[in-house]
Amino acid sequence: MSKKNLINSLFRPEVLALSAYHVADAAGFIKLDAMENPYSWSEDFKQQWLAALKDCELNRYPDPEARQLNATIKRVNGIAEPFDVLLGNGSDEIIQLLLMALPPTASVLSTTPSFVMYKQISDSLGLRYHGVPLADSFDLDLPAMLAVINQHQPSVIFIAYPNNPTSNLFSEAAIIAIIQASNGLVVIDEAYAPFADASFMNRLGQYENLLVMRTVSKLGLAGLRLGYIAGLPAIIEQLNKIRLPYNINILTQASAEFALSNHAVFDEQTQAICTDRALVFEQLNELDGITAYPSAANFILFKTPKGRATEIFLSLKQQNVLIKNMSPQAGLLTDCLRVTIGKPEENAAFLAALRNSLES
Ligand SMILES: *Cc1c(COP(=O)(O)O)cnc(C)c1O
Repeated sequence: MSKKNLINSLFRPEVLALSAYHVADAAGFIKLDAMENPYSWSEDFKQQWLAALKDCELNRYPDPEARQLNATIKRVNGIAEPFDVLLGNGSDEIIQLLLMALPPTASVLSTTPSFVMYKQISDSLGLRYHGVPLADSFDLDLPAMLAVINQHQPSVIFIAYPNNPTSNLFSEAAIIAIIQASNGLVVIDEAYAPFADASFMNRLGQYENLLVMRTVSKLGLAGLRLGYIAGLPAIIEQLNKIRLPYNINILTQASAEFALSNHAVFDEQTQAICTDRALVFEQLNELDGITAYPSAANFILFKTPKGRATEIFLSLKQQNVLIKNMSPQAGLLTDCLRVTIGKPEENAAFLAALRNSLES
């Protein structure tokens, strides 16, 4: 058998049809492409962290339930009884294990655009994915969402709140209507909760099919890979069965425990990011031909003059500034670029480079 035939006979067609999730090589760039917190830790804070790691027994398996961290996450997020929390190696892993638990004929619903992993993972598992386009305002197209819910009864609906890459909070009433209309699970993905003034966490008690997912990545701990999802114990129990037993390694458990117990450090950083978000938003909108969209997250989506997004993206890159080109996704994202809020000097470098690109 030729190598190509071997590969084609081994793997599921949906896997063969996928393209791997591409992450740009950012070495040497001012990195404003991935919604990371730009701030590193003080020497003193690092020393405290290393002291906390010193007692980790790397020769032993970690606590498979990560009980201490689980309790800390519940406390810090105000998740009370009777709700349970499942931890994942990033919220990406939680999306994957939730979808892995579904029957092969299940369908999954989200919006277009939204976080790309919902579709990527659905496709990899051969599930039927429905992406309903947002309205021009970037809000949910509620009638269209309800029509898909009626017709396909999706097992899982993902709502990113705020949404990536449009950065807005959808109408609360529309989300509630979706939760009420759905027989399946509705996951409110609050990856950007640290930058938003809204949450569904305190609505967990109101709807049995509601799950709220968060991550520490955008807060400032992207390197740890830790996400979590809260919901009724009966649901979390099923997910726990397909979670690999030691999915949260001992260094992540100890580091996250340390970081979340020192929440004030991150509150200060997210405050600074929100202040700078307002400045970047204002300065973007002062530029001729640029329209920046209001953001409830740590990034800003903006529209460039017609047909110029890719050229401007590449010109920024040449000036050492890496952001994200959304225009290839087309639809509402045509002509759009996305920039993560960095340190003040990084934001200034980005804006200077953008002015330069627009003039050339
Ligand atoms: C970044 C992001 C995630 C992924 O979070 P990880 O915990 O780093 O895997 C999930 N959802 C949305 C909407 C995101 O933007």
